[in-house]
Amino acid sequence: MKAKVKCPTCQKEIEWSPLFPYRPFCSERCKLIDLGAWASGEFAIAGEPATPLDEHYQTEDPKLH
Ligand SMILES: [Zn+2]
Repeated sequence: MKAKVKCPTCQKEIEWSPLFPYRPFCSERCKLIDLGAWASGEFAIAGEPATPLDEHYQTEDPKLH
């Protein structure tokens, strides 16, 4: 009996086997969709600094010293 997993992108059930080289995704397409979702910030962690460059600029501002 082979283990089954669900594709995180489309919920399709696949076998955990070399038949599915992109597991846990069912296909390369689903893998890319998932990576794209992360890159676009859909799953961004709340509270993470959105503009680290602004923070840097403030510490370098001579008026603050
Ligand atoms: Zn899929």
